Amino acid sequence: MKSSRISGFYKKTVDERKRIIKEMYPFTEEELEEINSNAPLTVDTADKMIENVVGTFQLPLGLGLNFLINGKEYIVPMVIEEASVVASASHIAKIVRDAGGFTADSSERVMIGQIQVIGCQDFYKAKAQILKQKQALIQAANDAFPSIVARGGGAEDLDVRILNEEADSKYSTMLVVHLYVNTVDAMGANLINTMAESIAPLIEEITEGKVYLRILSNLADRSLARARCVIPPHLLTTGDFSGEEVRDGVIHAYEFAASDPYRAVTHNKGIMNGIDPVVIATGNDWRAVEAGAHAYAVKDGKYGSMTTWSKDLEGNLVGEIELPMSIGTVGGATRVHPMAKHALQLLDVKSAKELAQVIVSVGLAQNLGALKALATDGIQKGHMSLHSRSVAIAAGATGEMIDIIAEELVKLKDIRVGKAKELVEKIKI
Ligand code: NDP
Repeated sequence: MKSSRISGFYKKTVDERKRIIKEMYPFTEEELEEINSNAPLTVDTADKMIENVVGTFQLPLGLGLNFLINGKEYIVPMVIEEASVVASASHIAKIVRDAGGFTADSSERVMIGQIQVIGCQDFYKAKAQILKQKQALIQAANDAFPSIVARGGGAEDLDVRILNEEADSKYSTMLVVHLYVNTVDAMGANLINTMAESIAPLIEEITEGKVYLRILSNLADRSLARARCVIPPHLLTTGDFSGEEVRDGVIHAYEFAASDPYRAVTHNKGIMNGIDPVVIATGNDWRAVEAGAHAYAVKDGKYGSMTTWSKDLEGNLVGEIELPMSIGTVGGATRVHPMAKHALQLLDVKSAKELAQVIVSVGLAQNLGALKALATDGIQKGHMSLHSRSVAIAAGATGEMIDIIAEELVKLKDIRVGKAKELVEKIKI
């Protein structure tokens, strides 16, 4: 029976962790070996993925534990080089689990294709003509990619915007057609770009203008995923801090981010600390997700927090997140990178919508992990002790020496590469 609550997982060896996972999942020995292998992505495959390949580049894959989302258990693969992120996500997921778990949902998976038209004689007339021909244009877009229609998706709607119509605008007036496409379980960039390019000649004919750009928008605000958690204060008690103190500290930390872009950007970086590792592990395009998330953080006209934290009438801490999630469970590298295939197996998600819900839940957990630490002991205490092993390696420690030096650094409360180098030298003598 699969459960994401695995006690003491962090204390086990890599082999023991693999065995636990094997008992829960129907992985073959070969798949398990691939998961633990140092080069699961062969240079041959890599050479087919991008250009000028000379090798591959590995990153650590850890498992985010304790996630309970909409009543379902999730073991979350996370690919990241930064210490403490996986531990923090798992720690908060356990608290949220004890509070009943995350609830998550999503909008339709509709992505936007943009077609830019310049030089129309009369932009308003051109806009009216396009709207008149809307059904024909949607049909033409779908004719260019019938397989997505057969999968239950395809172009569904169309809209027209006119930009820079003010007489004193320093930019050219332009008409922008938005094509709304249900991409089902794909991120959909390639299929949308194909559709946008295919209807461009028809748009030129209708508008008597010239089409320039034909490409999807990464501001995927019709492909939103949301997650929420409600935590009674007693579950937040940390050291000498009462649950109420932690709750209020988290809310004040959120208010800071909501009112100051200098803070918001770091607050949101912490959220992306949770989101990117899952996006990367599943072979998705993290630049697309990053771009969309940060643009959506400006939706109220000012760059702000990607999450909200408040107190309900019972005094519970309530956290919410809503972000565009242009990800897929098919397409791109999701089925090409062998580790991405296994990450999707581990997650056991049935659709891109479900994957999006898991991703934003991890982002919300990560945000609370950072805010809780910041509002209590400060970020360095937990972060630096987990970072100490990387510091030891950076100072030249190898093998068993790594843990010995890391422990000594924590004991000395002096987690610096300089100090670690001194210790390495001492041990070598
Ligand atoms: P792909 O073209 O690789 O794959 C999508 C295709 O998978 C679909 O067109 C469909 O083709 C097939 N498919 C199989 N099962 C399903 C299903 N259940 N639901 C939907 N489609 C299914 O990828 P995408 O179009 O998703 O594009 C993502 C890639 O594009 C990423 O690699 C991204 O980096 C890149 N990209 C990103 C851009 C950006 O973000 N601005 C711009 C350009 C590219 P069929 O029906 O024919 O089998």
